[in-house]
Amino acid sequence: MRSAAALTGFASLTLALLPISGATAAPKTAASSCTTPSASARTMSAGVHRRDKNDVSPAQAAALDRELKALLAHRSPISIQATHQIPVYFHVIRTGKGKKGDLSRKRIAQQIAVMNKAYGGSKTGFSFALKGSDWTTNSKWFNAPDTYEKTIKTKLHKGSAGTLNIYTAALSDGLLGWSTFPWQYKSKPTMDGVVIHYSTIPGGSLTHYNLGQSATHETGHWLGLYHTFEGGCDAPGDYVSDTPAESSPAFKCPTGRDSCTASGKDPIHNFMDYSYDSCMTQFTAGQGTRMQKEWAAYRG
Ligand SMILES: [Zn+2]
Repeated sequence: MRSAAALTGFASLTLALLPISGATAAPKTAASSCTTPSASARTMSAGVHRRDKNDVSPAQAAALDRELKALLAHRSPISIQATHQIPVYFHVIRTGKGKKGDLSRKRIAQQIAVMNKAYGGSKTGFSFALKGSDWTTNSKWFNAPDTYEKTIKTKLHKGSAGTLNIYTAALSDGLLGWSTFPWQYKSKPTMDGVVIHYSTIPGGSLTHYNLGQSATHETGHWLGLYHTFEGGCDAPGDYVSDTPAESSPAFKCPTGRDSCTASGKDPIHNFMDYSYDSCMTQFTAGQGTRMQKEWAAYRG
């Protein structure tokens, strides 16, 4: 994700899974011992930390900020009270009906409800409406969705820039999910969407990460948010002014953590940190505004 390609294309998303590096380094965990695609979520849950592929470098973030400002320069002011109901297509990849990876309609509905509570409760202006679900039995896709990402999405993706496509499968290397960013839609529309580890859906087997907040987090990226630890303690960090800077991801739920000298304790309860699902409770008003701006620039 450090190459210029991340600004405009998806080369970064089709590369082998990259370690998170630099100021946003995530520690290698026990999860690294379950790198084989067939490792079960139950095996992984013992030492897994939240991790995805959505870090950007400070230089990329600065370039993207210039692009966003340019795109909005001649637009009316963005209303943070704007409401958008986002249509969602849910694509379940499984090894068979009733087998690993399979998800019921009830659990999919529970996932959407979790997202609606997360986004609605904090007045971001976004809500989600399930428009359709499909189930694909394919063990190769299920066990290596990163390898087959282009094939999967070419086959299953639906809708346009304002349509959220969520794919579930067994992610390897301790990843709980990943997402495309709004600015990537133009060059690779079919690749747009969120990929989630199936065991993170409410009722899943991934201890501490099975309340559905991985989808909330990845959808935050899909709406243009960075991690709260983006850029470490250095401004402008995540380009949101009301999320205090933090030096690195917060894991588990470290109440009181204060890793930077700037004012404000670390935003460990924010959906865009790396803490436990049960620890994640908020988006800030600033994040709501940023998502609305990103929507206006790239998805509206
Ligand atoms: Zn993330």
